[in-house]
Amino acid sequence: MSYHIKQFQPGDIIFHGGDSSDCAYIIEHGQVEIFFQSDHTVIDILSEGELFGEMGVLDQSPRSTSARALTDLTLLEVKTQQITNRLTESDPIVKALVGVLLKRFRSMLPKQVISSGSNSLLDQVASVIEQAGLSKFKLESELSSAINNGEIQTVFQPICDIQSGRIAGFEALSRWTHPERGFISPVEFITLAEETDLIIEVGDLVFTRALEVLTQLPEHVFININVSSKQLDDERFLNRVLKKAKANGISPQRLKLEITETMVVDFKLAKQWLDKCRNIGFPVCADDFGTGHSGMEQLVELDFDVLKVDQVFIMNMFKNARYQTVLKSIASMAKSLGAQLVAEGVEDEPTCTALKALNFDFGQGYYFGKPMSEAEALKLQF
Ligand code: C2E
Ligand code: CA
Ligand code: CA
Repeated sequence: MSYHIKQFQPGDIIFHGGDSSDCAYIIEHGQVEIFFQSDHTVIDILSEGELFGEMGVLDQSPRSTSARALTDLTLLEVKTQQITNRLTESDPIVKALVGVLLKRFRSMLPKQVISSGSNSLLDQVASVIEQAGLSKFKLESELSSAINNGEIQTVFQPICDIQSGRIAGFEALSRWTHPERGFISPVEFITLAEETDLIIEVGDLVFTRALEVLTQLPEHVFININVSSKQLDDERFLNRVLKKAKANGISPQRLKLEITETMVVDFKLAKQWLDKCRNIGFPVCADDFGTGHSGMEQLVELDFDVLKVDQVFIMNMFKNARYQTVLKSIASMAKSLGAQLVAEGVEDEPTCTALKALNFDFGQGYYFGKPMSEAEALKLQF
């Protein structure tokens, strides 16, 4: 998906009434005048942060109004497909609401649109939807540039052999430091990337960095990578990774794919993913194990190579004895089923000792090391 910035000078026409429409615009800087071409009536003057031209895009009708730059103007173009993709994926209630709003606005347009600035409930609802959507579109476009500008970095958090304390591998995690907004949590931007196809690009970036780092690490060290369902549904994705691994002389066994429990909604589909990854040679980990609703069923139905027990169990181990009881059962079941066990969120020595006693294989958490840059990771002792 591409994002376009367009520049205009005062008086430039952005579109005419009757033109066909394949995009809407968000005003980055400057002002726009919306008017009827027939009698030059000005309907609205819009400024920074506002959206226009969306109606034709949504219902595919020709532009009903014209738009002209009032000042020097910078616009962010939002393509029809971005809007229609969002609408297709949106909640049925939102879809219905947008449909109703559109119909009403269209029927009102010739006579009543001139009385803009009314404050009916309908306007307020429309404005709430619009504002939430606008900031998301903006972030989406910024994320797309960030991927291409190298603003998305990959950091590496050690995963240690819990018995010996030695580094066995790393988890690769994405970081985005926005030039103005600063650190943006991966929970926020990965969720956004997952709603669009940008997750494929973020994924390619992480895999590329991880493979590059693997070539500089000892043969026995692995890297875990988080993957999302969009990546696994994409036929070409795993083959692309495999090709890159081969080109770098890396065995696929050294790249472990983490799938979160919440992604496993459909066991048949999850089984297909696991088979696909296995056939290529990538081991698969159940991430955040124990937090979803299907933990036990997953253990029965899906043959994971590794279970990463969610940090909530580890962090509450000494606060509530019942967590320890559950951990004990998970550990013994995992062992009987032949899966390796990783504890996430290990923050202190007593926790590490207790996990050793429970026969965990690996530990990850601030006790062993925080996520760090590539250069820092490569300086560690293996
Ligand atoms: P996750 O996969 O469960 O990653 C572990 C998270 O726990 C990381 O947060 C890590 O920094 C944090 N963590 C590790 N050890 C400790 C500890 O001892 N104590 C505490 N309090 N926290 C610890 P982070 O980096 O903010 O990542 C959040 C989530 O974002 C990840 O959760 C993962 O689901 C997602 N994510 C991050 N990078 C990527 C990526 O490149 N692709 C995908 N698909 N998802 C990613
Ligand atoms: Ca993970
Ligand atoms: Ca996790």
